[in-house]
Amino acid sequence: MRAKLVVGNWKMYGSLAANLTLLTGIKDAAIAFKCAAAVCVPFPYLAQARSALAGTSVAWGAQNVSEHAQGAFTGEVSAGMLVDFGCRYVLVGHSERRALYGEDDRTVAAKFQQAQLAGLTPILCLGETLAERESGVTADVVTRQLGAVIDASGVAALSRAVLAYEPVWAIGTGKTASPQQAQEVHALIRARVGQSDAAVASELRILYGGSVKPGNARELFAMPDIDGGLIGGASLVAEDFRAICAAA
Ligand code: PEP
Repeated sequence: MRAKLVVGNWKMYGSLAANLTLLTGIKDAAIAFKCAAAVCVPFPYLAQARSALAGTSVAWGAQNVSEHAQGAFTGEVSAGMLVDFGCRYVLVGHSERRALYGEDDRTVAAKFQQAQLAGLTPILCLGETLAERESGVTADVVTRQLGAVIDASGVAALSRAVLAYEPVWAIGTGKTASPQQAQEVHALIRARVGQSDAAVASELRILYGGSVKPGNARELFAMPDIDGGLIGGASLVAEDFRAICAAA
């Protein structure tokens, strides 16, 4: 049985002062609703997340990681450094990284591998653009993105990972995939994994992300292959995150 998981992606928002209130709200919500939750915060706030969340049921993590273990890579942050800050999770392949920073499938697969080598649980983001959806290639796109990681790390590696289906056209746009549209892709992803390993597929958590809000979370999370959410904008508002935890 897959327990629902709610993960906040703060993107490049926050301040030490604002985070304090938000972290308290998130912690209270996760406790109140016995909801498995996590927040992926900007690197400079990892120490703050650790001191606010250590010993609670809320995990924390980062939004990016280097594809290298260490070395002369100015400005990069390694998976080992994230472990030093107590991170459990790291996002890899978020569509903003793919689109704005040129991360291709090979780079994402290398980041996934580095994260796991250091003992982190990668949250692998997959999803199609609007143009890809409209040309009917959604299945090809998510299968290709997932395939790159399976080719590099093997299907068994997915038992130590979380997937997030995030249609690019629904991220930060206010347009959500309907529960049926999301379920269709989640089922497809699970079936593709199941072709290689049925046990891994049935235990695999696949989150939905893309304009999840208090008003649509319940319906989305009711779908059989949707195991929780990756929440951007609404994770920056404590009451919204609380309502989404309640839905989960
Ligand atoms: C995200 O950043 O992963 C995301 C899903 O954003 P939003 O919820 O704002 O669409």
